[in-house]
This record gives sequence, structure tokens and C-alpha cells, in this order.
Amino acid sequence: MKNNSKFPSSLELLLDGLIDNLSKIQRCFDNYQNECFENRTSEFFCLELNGEAGELANLEKKSWKGKPIPQEKFEDEAADVLIALINYSNAKNINLAKSVYDKLIKIEKYRSELENIGEKY
Ligand SMILES: [Mg+2]
Repeated sequence: MKNNSKFPSSLELLLDGLIDNLSKIQRCFDNYQNECFENRTSEFFCLELNGEAGELANLEKKSWKGKPIPQEKFEDEAADVLIALINYSNAKNINLAKSVYDKLIKIEKYRSELENIGEKY
């Protein structure tokens, strides 16, 4: 998966840590899920993911309309979204580390092409 082109150092660091760290986290979530929770389908986790993303979006909507929302509520819903995404990915046999790695490279290539013509991503 190593790429020879030159990326910004911040992206190089991200890519270097991504495979080992995210792969390990995803595996650990799978082990915990299998040990302690009922087996669920990818469809279940996809619906859960979208439900949790909706809860997070609802907080942002309220905040946007001027209602004070404690930071802890955003943190709680962001955690729900991440957990649901990892559970979905495990149920769907998606290697998140590889998927994110590949996507970041695509995004960076597109971003740098735009930068070369004076536009922003
Ligand atoms: Mg929630």
C-alpha cells in the first residue's frame, strides 16, 4: 500500500500510523462485540450508524439555532457514530484502515491537482 509520491508530512504521518493502529482498534472492537454482544447483521449496524449520525446532526441543528448544547453531548454522539461505523465495518468485512488509507490518497491527489490550478478542495 506504500505510495511513492510526495505527500504533505502531516498526511505521511497519518498514513504511517493508520494501518497498524486502526486495524488493531477494529480487531479489538470485533473481539469485544463477539464476546459480549448478540451477533448483528451489517444492515442492523448501518441503520444504527445512520440513527447515531442523525442524533449528532440533531444536536448540531439545535446548536445552530442557538440552543446551548454541552460539549459532552457532542462527544457522546460522536462516540456512538464511531462505534457504529466500526461495528458496521466488521459486520460487512470492510478493512477500515485500508479503506481510509486508500481514500486519503485519492483525496490528496485530487486536492493537490486543484491546488496546482489555484483552486481549493
Ligand atoms: Mg446516540
